[in-house]
Amino acid sequence: MLSMATMARERPEVLAPAGDAAAMRAAVRAGADAVYFGLEGFNARARATNFDAASLGKTMDELHAHGVRGYVTLNTLVFDAELPAIEAAIRACAAAGVDAVIVQDLGVARLVKAIAPTLPLHASTQMTCTDAGSVELARELGAERVILARELSVADIAKIRAETDAELEVFVHGALCISYSGQCLTSEAIGGRSANRGACAQACRLPYQLVVDGVVRDLGDDAYLLSPEDLEASALIPALMAIGVSSIKIEGRLKGPEYVAATTRLYRAAIDSSIEPAVREQALQTYSRGSGPGFLAGVDHQRLVEGRACDHRGLPVGELVRLHPGRRQQLEIVLSRPLSKGDGVLVEGGREGAGEVGGRVWAIARGGLEVERGEPGERVHVWLGPDHDREAPLVGHRVWKTNDPQVERAVRDRIEQEPHRVPLDLSLTGALGEPPVLRGVSRGRTAEVTVDTALVRAENRPLDEATLRAQLGRLGDTPFVLGALTLALPEQVMLPVSALNRARRALVAALGEVAHRSHATTDVTAVSLAERALPITTPPPAGLFALCRNVAQARAALAAGADGVYLDFLELTGTGVALRALREEGARFVGVAPPRIRKPGEEKIDRYLASLEPDAVLVRGLGALRDRGGSALRIGDFSLNVTHRISAHEVLSRGLAAFTPSFDLDASQLEALLASGLGPFAELVVHHPMPLFHMEHCVIAALLSEGKDFQDCGRPCERHAVSLRDRAGMDHPVEADVGCRNTVFHAAAQSAAGLVASAVRSGARRFRIELVRETDEEVGRIVRAYRSLLEQKTSPAEVFRALRAEGGYGVVRGSLRVLSS
Ligand code: SF4
Ligand code: SF4
Repeated sequence: MLSMATMARERPEVLAPAGDAAAMRAAVRAGADAVYFGLEGFNARARATNFDAASLGKTMDELHAHGVRGYVTLNTLVFDAELPAIEAAIRACAAAGVDAVIVQDLGVARLVKAIAPTLPLHASTQMTCTDAGSVELARELGAERVILARELSVADIAKIRAETDAELEVFVHGALCISYSGQCLTSEAIGGRSANRGACAQACRLPYQLVVDGVVRDLGDDAYLLSPEDLEASALIPALMAIGVSSIKIEGRLKGPEYVAATTRLYRAAIDSSIEPAVREQALQTYSRGSGPGFLAGVDHQRLVEGRACDHRGLPVGELVRLHPGRRQQLEIVLSRPLSKGDGVLVEGGREGAGEVGGRVWAIARGGLEVERGEPGERVHVWLGPDHDREAPLVGHRVWKTNDPQVERAVRDRIEQEPHRVPLDLSLTGALGEPPVLRGVSRGRTAEVTVDTALVRAENRPLDEATLRAQLGRLGDTPFVLGALTLALPEQVMLPVSALNRARRALVAALGEVAHRSHATTDVTAVSLAERALPITTPPPAGLFALCRNVAQARAALAAGADGVYLDFLELTGTGVALRALREEGARFVGVAPPRIRKPGEEKIDRYLASLEPDAVLVRGLGALRDRGGSALRIGDFSLNVTHRISAHEVLSRGLAAFTPSFDLDASQLEALLASGLGPFAELVVHHPMPLFHMEHCVIAALLSEGKDFQDCGRPCERHAVSLRDRAGMDHPVEADVGCRNTVFHAAAQSAAGLVASAVRSGARRFRIELVRETDEEVGRIVRAYRSLLEQKTSPAEVFRALRAEGGYGVVRGSLRVLSS
């Protein structure tokens, strides 16, 4: 018996972005195992072209014909009124046979599994999964794969891997958010936009000044204090493979086909352990703001944000050493990389890009002779074309190659001339006198055909492995390349070559036909699920509560009439001391607020806070949502992103006494949610400075120390009050939490005073004030104002006036809007 097989090694898939049809084609031809793309209306890249539901089946069939999986992003929060539309999108995905939907919203996850139980579900990075508990919670919702937060290190991922069987997907390339995904409310503050709704306003890419204890700190040319470098982790792929990561993901649904092709090829090569330096350079040339391993290499507050620029730079090509005034700008550059005529260059400017000069290279000269290209180490004269910027560039500054037409051509040529082909494993099985069966397996798809001719005894040239590989491997006009070949045939048999060819063609056609596989759907509707979604527990006690950052605020709040306080302090020991002191002073309700983010090993923070036996715990993340036990009231915070009835029911069903409605709701949506019967189970934030960014990056350590993390930063956060001043002159406070994560708060408070009366009519009984840096006297004024409002002794207008707060809830035209103009 002839027998041969090749073992395939378990490898992660390369998952590429597809913002439009050209990018999708580039991804497929460059070797992506899977692509992800949005449907019109429901995905976190509203600005991408996206795909429409009507042609989804055709798109999926095309992908499947190439052995490529397609994941559809439904990863935005939705509102009650949109539930029928999201249901339609889920049904379209099920009918089209998409390989998974990517979901942020807990209620949408529940809906997917209710409507299409076999449709695979991936938990979006927008779910902010940072520990094994949050991954397991996503699994309980039906997710087989979790896309981890980009703030985790390889070591963190290994710890999570050890505690869960879920498939893990990791971002390895592309733009990073400065905020934890799913926790950025900056665009709400700008007004009417939401990163959780696919409409990020990129406020992290704007310039800010650092204000320390009220004084602007001179940072030289550094202005983009929240604009992180891009991620490029090709060197870490072996480590991620060793951990057992299932998918490595490239960001970039707003980028073009050259970027998609070049980055896909880079990570295909990284998985195959065959990266050539040129492949990496090509990927970075197509788009890069400067690049590094991001948080995958661990926290380093000195590395992530350089501060000099916020947009595409490409690759550094040298330094400007002299300037020659002339009819055209003539630059003298010492090169660190090759530079050719036709390349785009940019000479870095000063603060906020002042004096930045860019243009296309018109001519290059070396030693007085014009050349086509300069090489690394050479000092060359470069003339920019007539369309260059007219300002004088800055000597001594870095020069970047922003564009290289030869690279773009090479990337395009490669995918046209040498498209990636998918391995097709074949087996040929049969007995003498019978037609053998040819079976093919490629990326999970299987098909088989019976050869139309029987095996006969070979007189002189029996079938051998080489002949079969040659005939069955003639797959050049298909998406496949022959992988393993397994033979189970008697010795000394033969088949005509023409029969083998017909069988091979029939098998390829059959693989195309099995590509389409719809998922069955149920008759559950989104509306029926939402209408069933009424809590069955007793509502928690009523009251006005204040979330405080120090014990003085807590005392002032209680003295002014707050029914209770939550302690959200920078350090843990002080929390215990304060809780005991406040209790001794007669406080009837003292809750605690653990950090929003919980990384592996940080469960001990929650355990310590629980050991204080607080009256309530604010549940801020999915890992904490999964915790049970203890006698404290569990109140879900805004960071759980509850925007509609199904998600409210989902969190309440996990032992929460109440939830905090998301700030993605606007006033009318909030009123509708509360009026749906959920009012008594809500704790409404009536006054707060909007938390804009919630970041792993510590701005304070980055700019006030040389330390890379809390171990060597010298703890400047304990000595200084730090703010970021925007272009409108507003100072937004930066506060650190126990885990060293920074929150940038809006400079001005938002007040939902105008909504209190209708909320009370809907049964709402719990209201919360969130404090940041208010003095005792300010705390007293704020608490008294809302106490008076709740007792109907004051009007909302009087509250706004007294507190100088902007009226509204969540998505309003907030004062940060000046930044977006
Ligand atoms: S951090 Fe926020 S503003 Fe910046 S890109 Fe991410 S979602 Fe947008
Ligand atoms: S100790 Fe303070 S300054 Fe240092 S990293 Fe932590 S939060 Fe930042």
